Amino acid sequence: MFKAILLGKKDDGATDAQLTELDEAQLPADGDVTIRVDYSTINFKDGLAITGRSPVVRKWPMVPGIDGAGEVIESSHAAWKPGDRVILNGWGVGEVHMGCLAQRAKLKGDWLVRLPDGMSARTAMAIGTAGYTAMLCALSLREQGVKPDAGGILVTGASGGVGSVAVAILSGWGYRVVASTGKLAEKEYLQALGASEVIDRAALSEAGKPLQKERWAGVVDSVGSHTLVNAIAQTRYGGTVTACGLAQGMDLPASVAPFILRGVKLIGVDSVMAPQARRVQAWEHLARDLDAAKLERITQEIALGDVIARAPEILAGKVRGRLVVDVN
Ligand code: NDP
Repeated sequence: MFKAILLGKKDDGATDAQLTELDEAQLPADGDVTIRVDYSTINFKDGLAITGRSPVVRKWPMVPGIDGAGEVIESSHAAWKPGDRVILNGWGVGEVHMGCLAQRAKLKGDWLVRLPDGMSARTAMAIGTAGYTAMLCALSLREQGVKPDAGGILVTGASGGVGSVAVAILSGWGYRVVASTGKLAEKEYLQALGASEVIDRAALSEAGKPLQKERWAGVVDSVGSHTLVNAIAQTRYGGTVTACGLAQGMDLPASVAPFILRGVKLIGVDSVMAPQARRVQAWEHLARDLDAAKLERITQEIALGDVIARAPEILAGKVRGRLVVDVN
């Protein structure tokens, strides 16, 4: 038996979340690698699943947890053997395949990434999908030719998981980072992560003109809606905007003007189904380039028993940085 968070449906359709004990026989039969999970985390999507706020979970009952890190204890997959240290991010885990907010998970070997040398399971989960997505955004900016001397990089939702890690990565790479936040009290925190300037997100949250003063060479946006539209409208000629999130909304009430008059590029970033080679590249960069002291500043550790109570906070935008979960 092992401890797990289990989600079920109540008669009225609401989600019921419990800390419970499961038997290994209850784990998915189509998994070919059993993991002893050491650490997991709560991402925005886990918050949606646990509270039932959005239809993230599509198979019931479900163990949530889109991220896990730990050790292989049993494997029939050619690439993995007991003792291997692995990371899991996404692939529908915690949505349609039982997830990692549990002491055991039975996953597909094709989904796993080897824990980079020298990285602990706790560090991997302090980074989690949020941090790995921040790296995917940062890599996209670089690949689009955005250089540190090209101008400022706007990071929206800066005090959140994706935002905090993006600020740390990009400032570490020598970019001038401007952090947009609704938590102005966290100015010092964001400066300590490397932000050169901290701005009030209210300046970006309402409908604005289709073309605004050119300010950003690049953008990492985890907020969507009007914030993303304004960020695009303020991007310099030829600049690049990476869009990965919807904390403000899924809508995009935009004009084509920045694209056809300024050649602005909008790059969508997905972590869930990203190909294996891209994941390995992102995790190698995270192991090499992310400052350990900054990551520790971003991280709060909680217990498996705290997860259900903390999940609504992430949806309310009340969590600073990342929540890492010690499941044991
Ligand atoms: P967090 O909740 O940690 O961070 C989101 C941040 O957005 C908040 O901390 C807050 O930052 C800001 N925010 C919240 N509500 C609003 C609002 N109404 N208007 C403007 N800003 C708001 O979540 P994550 O960082 O984990 O995820 C961020 C987004 O990215 C989510 O939508 C998530 O689903 C998405 N995501 C997508 C992935 C992908 O594969 N594409 C992978 C990972 C995440 P502040 O207070 O500083 O303004």
